[in-house]
Formats: sequence, C-alpha cells, structure tokens
Amino acid sequence: MIFCANPSAQFKTYQSEIEAAVLKVMRSNQYVLGEEVDYLEQEFANYIGVSHAIGVANGTDALELSMRALDIQPGDEVITVSHTAVATVAAIESLGAIPVLVDVEEDFYTLDPSKISEVISKKTKAVIAVHIYGQSANLEKISDFCIQNQLFLIEDVSQAHGAKWNGSRLGSIGDIATFSCYPTKNLGAIGDAGLVATKDSVLAKKVRMLREYGWENRYVSEFAGRNSRLDELQAAILRIKLRGLDRDNEKRRQIAKIYDESLSGLDLHLPKVRDGAEHVFHLYVLRCNFQQNLIEDLKNDGISLGIHYPLAVHQQNAYRNRVRTSSMKITDQLSNRVVSLPMYPELPLSDALKVSLVIRSWIESQ
Ligand SMILES: *Cc1c(COP(=O)(O)O)cnc(C)c1O
Repeated sequence: MIFCANPSAQFKTYQSEIEAAVLKVMRSNQYVLGEEVDYLEQEFANYIGVSHAIGVANGTDALELSMRALDIQPGDEVITVSHTAVATVAAIESLGAIPVLVDVEEDFYTLDPSKISEVISKKTKAVIAVHIYGQSANLEKISDFCIQNQLFLIEDVSQAHGAKWNGSRLGSIGDIATFSCYPTKNLGAIGDAGLVATKDSVLAKKVRMLREYGWENRYVSEFAGRNSRLDELQAAILRIKLRGLDRDNEKRRQIAKIYDESLSGLDLHLPKVRDGAEHVFHLYVLRCNFQQNLIEDLKNDGISLGIHYPLAVHQQNAYRNRVRTSSMKITDQLSNRVVSLPMYPELPLSDALKVSLVIRSWIESQ
C-alpha cells in the first residue's frame, strides 16, 4: 500500500536519535515546559527568523492564544478562508469572535486578497492568511491591505513549515504566526504540539503567559489564561526533526518534480508555484473532474489518495448558514475536484513514479 502520508516512516528516519532523546527526558525530572521546550523555542525562532517562539499544545491553541494576545474580543470579526482546516475557524469562534470567510485564488488555493474589501467592516480586527498545502498566500497584497486598514495579520503556517516568500520564511512576515506540529505536518511531533512565532516581544510574553493561566510568576495569574503547555517529550522530538526539516522539504520537492513531469499533458490541473514562493509541498494537490472515480479505482492498485478537504468550512453542518461568507465560486468547486497524491519525505521516488504512471494509464483508459 502506498499511503498518502506516513508519519511512522519518518519515525524510522530519526529513530535512534529520537529514542535516545526520549529516554533522556524520561530519566530527567522535568516533563512539561522544561529545557527541551526552551531550546526548541530558541532554535525554532532562529530557524523562522523571528525573535520569539512559544511552544503550545497544538496548532488550534496556537491560533487561539495568538488572537487573545492581539486582544481580539467577542464580537470582533476575523477574515479568513473557508478552504482550510476547520481548526482555523474553530479557533476564531473559541474567542467568541466572528469568522468572516472569503474565497481563494484559483491558481494557488489561498486567500483572494481582492475579496477582503468586500467583507471588511468596523468590527474587523484581523486577517488570518492560511499558507495552504505548503506555499505562501499572496502576502504582498494581503499585508498591504492589513497595513492600510490597521488590521492584524496572522499567518497560519500549519501546512508550510520552512516555506519561503521572497527569501523570508513564512511566519516571519505577519504580526504573529502559528504552527501545528500534528504528526503528519512537515514538522510533526509524535503526538500533539504547536508553536507560535513573532517578532513582537510584548505579544510573545502574552502568549507565554496565556499558555499557563496568565502566570508571570508561578501560581499568580496576571490575567485569565489556560493550560496549553507543551511536553518535554514532544519538544525533544521536534528539535531532532527541525534539524532535518530543510532536507525533508527538499525531498518533498523532488517528489513533486516527479509528479509534475510525469503527469504533464493530461486533463489535470497540477499545482502552480507562486512567483517568489518556495513551496514545501505539505500536500501535492491536483484538480480534476473525476475525483471520486480516480480515488476509488486507485485503491484497487494499492494507492491511497486523499481529499483536502471533502467539505469547505462553510459547507459543513456545524457552520452552514451560520458563518458570514463572500461569494465562494472557487471554494465551492474545490471540494469535489481536489485530489492529494502520496507525499512524505520517505516516499521512494520509484513509488512516486509508479503513482504517476498508474494515474496516467487510468486517465488514458477513460
Ligand atoms: C493542522 C492545521 C491546524 C490545526 O492544528 P492542530 O495541531 O491539529 O490543532 C490549523 N490550521 C491548519 C491550516 C492546519 O492544517
């Protein structure tokens, strides 16, 4: 079976280092927010090119605590996309803030900057740019709009650890940035974990306090926070994988290159790379008119394909008729058309080629 993602293959890549690091933590006397978390925060901040990183429990919390640090209040509006993980929108609602969802660019599947002005209101406080599938949203235009209209720019980098835009790492451009380290992400823990990155020392301090009950000094809350602490075990594992992240992302790009070359000329939309962007292919997503049949038939060949996502947020029972949206022309088409090909650093190039050839002959036989 060729899987779509394969976090256990990644464990094998780093197995001896991870086992040694895990044993060291277990034999220590500090299991939560200790020196592994401190080191990870410094190393990750250096890697992204910001002054501060804060470890939290998961990527959804990273978003929630970032918005709380920005002082986004119940009733405030936050603009983002519907074509994203539900987490992005769930985090907005966890504050009592109101998600306002806009359509995406047809070529890149990221927030369409021209739609922001259609939905902005007096209550709008922030825009969350989601760098979906591994490449940058249109930061040039989104960032200009935010500056002109005094909105905070939050980067949701949960699918694009290590990706760049105009030479800078994603997560170093907005006011604050959030990362999920769920096991299948480009930088994945062996369990849940998340990170926040920012250049702003005031925001960093607030997030740091919010993740532990608003404490500056132990047991004394300066404001109401909660528990979103990061484990030492996960931090130790993430430090090891962070050292290999650029190499792992390079392997993803090599796999993408094979797909690009061997699937060209077919009745498919292959991923496009934005000018100035360096893609890290969290997912390799193509668009076609035969999504379900292709996925069903390739299962019989031992190839597992994915859909990210089968429903946009505004199409889901939990949000339908409730969240405010602009027109969703592109987003509405995507759920029935997107197909994610197997993509993880350990995927042998020969398997990527096999997947392409099977897809090619399937399409040619239709
Ligand atoms: C995975 C993901 C999240 C949520 O992260 P969790 O760690 O699962 O809470 C948020 N946004 C995007 C775009 C994601 O892909």
